[in-house]
Amino acid sequence: MPELPEVETVRRGLAQWLPGKKITDVEVLHPRATNPRSIAPLIELRGARIENINRRGKFLWFTLNRPYVVLAHLGMSGQFLIEPRSTQPSSHARVRFTVNDRRRELRFIDQRTFGWIALDTLTDGAPSSITHIARDIFDPEFRNDETIEILRKRSTSIKAALLNQEIMSGVGNIYADESLWRAQIHPEQIAHSLSTKDISRLFDAVRAVMGQALDAGGTSFDDLYINVNGESGYFDVELSVYGQEGEPCPRCGTEIKRIAFANRSSHFCPQCQIRPRQRVASQRKTSSRIRKTSSPKRKNGGKRAKSAKRARQPR
Ligand SMILES: [Zn+2]
Repeated sequence: MPELPEVETVRRGLAQWLPGKKITDVEVLHPRATNPRSIAPLIELRGARIENINRRGKFLWFTLNRPYVVLAHLGMSGQFLIEPRSTQPSSHARVRFTVNDRRRELRFIDQRTFGWIALDTLTDGAPSSITHIARDIFDPEFRNDETIEILRKRSTSIKAALLNQEIMSGVGNIYADESLWRAQIHPEQIAHSLSTKDISRLFDAVRAVMGQALDAGGTSFDDLYINVNGESGYFDVELSVYGQEGEPCPRCGTEIKRIAFANRSSHFCPQCQIRPRQRVASQRKTSSRIRKTSSPKRKNGGKRAKSAKRARQPR
């Protein structure tokens, strides 16, 4: 599933080409491509001029010279591609936007059809149907202190709170696991048991981990064939815990564990990420553990060759 860095890269790619273009025609090729909450059929976009490409969390929207916007969610596999008009669209093409460009057009491709496009009004600068989605950590108006306080009142696990898009948007399963590992916080630790300092450290980790992925995706786009979302839409980011079950922790060498989380999994290091109630018992073992893990044997000569792309097996 595309996460914030991937969606931001799509936004940047679209922002290089779309603003100023006038939509001359829209062809919807699959009924599920339009969200039923759309305030009007997409064909209404004929004649509209695209102004800006915006994002909040994993939602993208195009502002227009009209009192409504084009809101999109990539779902599990959605891609926006800017392709030559002369080429046959892929069999997974769901919507074609013809614009006043003689060579290329915008296509929404979505193999698994969980992605969608809708027309929506704006409320306080954001599409009305997503005003409950909180700002993400890269938003200039993101309120660090306020968000920390909200998290510290939650009685859910810190991971569930981190994934709650109404507290803070854009963090998905992969970056949640990676950030919690970096901040050395157990995914099942109850949010309100964490200190302001702990959560502040976790936010720094979220920024670092997602920032790395943003840098990886920030490559230039080919002039003739702008594949805004890349081949798969996923970046080759080095993963420390996600999908690394049984591999040694890059920090201490302990085997990474996987536990069930909602319908998915959490990956963590049982040595670096200890829940407070486990801490006392674990401290007794620490000295022997350190001896055991002081020279971790690493595969690939210590290099972690696994990437997000390869770790993401179809489920
Ligand atoms: Zn570790």
